[in-house]
Amino acid sequence: PQLANQIAAGEVVERPASVVKELVENALDAGASKVEIDIERGGHKRILIRDNGKGIGKEQLTLALSRHATSKISNIDDLEAIMSLGFRGEALASISSVSRLTMTSKPAGQNEAWSAIAEGLAMDVDIKPAAHPDGTSVDVVDLFFNTPARRKFLRAEKTEFNHIETLIKRIALSRPDVSFILKHNQKVVRKYRAHSAELGLVEQKSKRISEVISSNFIDSASVFTSQYDQVNIAVWIKSPELCGSVNPAQYSFVNGRMMRDKLIQHAIRQSYGQLLHPEQLPEYVIFIELPANEVDVNVHPAKHEVRFHHARLLHDLIVKTIKDALAVFQI
Ligand code: ADP
Ligand code: MG
Repeated sequence: PQLANQIAAGEVVERPASVVKELVENALDAGASKVEIDIERGGHKRILIRDNGKGIGKEQLTLALSRHATSKISNIDDLEAIMSLGFRGEALASISSVSRLTMTSKPAGQNEAWSAIAEGLAMDVDIKPAAHPDGTSVDVVDLFFNTPARRKFLRAEKTEFNHIETLIKRIALSRPDVSFILKHNQKVVRKYRAHSAELGLVEQKSKRISEVISSNFIDSASVFTSQYDQVNIAVWIKSPELCGSVNPAQYSFVNGRMMRDKLIQHAIRQSYGQLLHPEQLPEYVIFIELPANEVDVNVHPAKHEVRFHHARLLHDLIVKTIKDALAVFQI
């Protein structure tokens, strides 16, 4: 199981940002409305994630850090096998196999909090009483301390932190109802407060987009929503006249997950048509919601690829929605 954990770790734990991604997703899965991300030295030194989610009890805590199933592989030649398996239910075990990990939690309504500590390949989980408010903290210290090869691939503190910041911006865009605080070396770098769904979808998302991208983006964008069958699209698209040629804001989400998808990119470019000069880059935020069985998100989770079952139809629907949004700029 130890070898399996480290191989899985290679898949899931490429760099500090991949750790942050898994841990923040866990916090959101636990229903947190507030997530704090504390990074030290680009994540090389420390990644601490705190949430106010439903928490996890003592017994589950130990289980969460150990791999649930016996490994199906016994040596490195079976690497292919684990690649295709993915890492469902393995994130915490994988991360703890390449760091010193402490997970502390108190389920709401219980009196006791517990800490589970796992360090590197010795998969023994040490458990002890702790003090903690309702919710969970995961503290990841000395990432890759026992895998020098991987540590060598870590980039400068600044670079690794930039990856984390980019990731948090994406996650924050997808969840305007959750508040996020991102700190680097004790300093608050990003702070997003929660926006209630009572504002309505467009208003709620617009507020978060304004915080994450800029109020300028919101002011220079047209928003349009459309619904066809069970497909819902909401798009914020920047006025073609104001699109530049560097650092464009380009965000697409499919069922809440950030994607960098060819079909969506193509549809957006096509919608702008002659409105953009070749050197201009489109700027947009698009949310697409469709029934889960209309889409395979597991084509390659790490690469944000997705396969739509009715690709042509969806493509045309996106084009139509964006053209409607762009129409306000052509009067
Ligand atoms: P997965 O998320 O695929 O189940 P993980 O290794 O990421 O696998 O997490 C293992 C388990 O630990 C989760 O299924 C969940 O029960 C528990 N867990 C992890 N993070 C949290 C958290 N922040 N709050 C509550 N429970 C958590
Ligand atoms: Mg997880």
